[in-house]
Amino acid sequence: MRTLITGGGGFIGSHLCERFLAEGHEVVAVDNFITGRPENIAHLNANSRFKFIHHDVSCPLDVDGPVDNVLHFASPASPVDYLNYPIQTLKVGSLGTHNTLGLAKAKNARYLMASTSEVYGDPEIHPQREEYWGNVNPIGIRGCYDEAKRFSEAIVMAYHRYHGLNTHIVRIFNTYGERMRLDDGRVLPNFMGQAIRGEPLTVYGDGSQTRSFCYVSDLVEGIYRLLFADFHEPVNLGNPSEITILEFAKEIMALTGGQVSIVYKDLPQDDPKVRQPDISRARQILGWEPKVDRREGLDRTLRYFQEQVSRQGKSPSVCL
Ligand code: NAD
Ligand code: UDP
Repeated sequence: MRTLITGGGGFIGSHLCERFLAEGHEVVAVDNFITGRPENIAHLNANSRFKFIHHDVSCPLDVDGPVDNVLHFASPASPVDYLNYPIQTLKVGSLGTHNTLGLAKAKNARYLMASTSEVYGDPEIHPQREEYWGNVNPIGIRGCYDEAKRFSEAIVMAYHRYHGLNTHIVRIFNTYGERMRLDDGRVLPNFMGQAIRGEPLTVYGDGSQTRSFCYVSDLVEGIYRLLFADFHEPVNLGNPSEITILEFAKEIMALTGGQVSIVYKDLPQDDPKVRQPDISRARQILGWEPKVDRREGLDRTLRYFQEQVSRQGKSPSVCL
């Protein structure tokens, strides 16, 4: 099989490239490195089944030869990144999704699109089930990302219904692990970088907002199963173990053993107050549930960030 992965040079995309190569696929990664890094996939370049195309998928995409699967993961994903690149985020979620759907249609390929828990916005239903339509502010600072992903879901379903394309939508909840950027501004790289450097941890608001963190290998397993499932509506993938951001800060402080403190900063506009996936659908349709608990995932990720900090020195965390 030949599998094309947009955003293949990013955090999740690079893990997907590895997984599909390990399954025996030929992999074509497409990326423009707006938020990803060549080093994420440098170790794959020697593999004869791996090919990289430097391209902005918001522009039309032409690929020679057969393609069996298209996975569309290109998009800035951290709030700091999509606030820095709001237009590019809207374009890759609209034009990029249209272009990759067109490619999948031309090649008669399976299609899987990376959606997000952000389609639920600041949710009024907890935990979030796929049937919930969400509470999104289209003109708020997160609107560029949330509405781009909601448009993506709509056009994917239209291609499925109108053209009969074999499509899949994964709604990804906060995922972490090796190859996240130290400076992507998300809570885990910020807290780990700060704790390792002995700086105060920046908690936004009073830290009572919740998130549920999924280790990347669990997510990749769920995505692999979903691609080959006979199911076309959105599926939540994430770890239902929910924690407040303040407790999360304390967990990371305890893990690093550092004598660091907490500094409170303003809560950004429209920051969801709670987030926890209901994964009943994934359990039922994919026989999937996460295997790596937070302690184990954080241990592995901490080793990676310790190395990143020692390579990058004292470069500061990026805060909203
Ligand atoms: P990331 O920023 O590490 O990866 C995204 C990749 O897409 C980067 O390599 C970037 O350079 C590339 N990209 C962006 N725009 C592009 C364009 N126009 N053309 C080509 N390449 C482009 O982020 P990530 O965390 O790996 O997220 C990957 C996908 O998963 C995104 O679509 C994101 O919305 C989705 N997602 C991630 C999470 C999470 O917790 N990590 C949660 C929900 C959804
Ligand atoms: N957050 C925080 N300090 C930081 C970065 C983030 O307290 O340095 C909070 C943020 O306000 C949000 C949560 O942590 O409530 C998760 O933020 P992240 O940027 O990782 O992604 P989100 O889940 O909001 O998309």
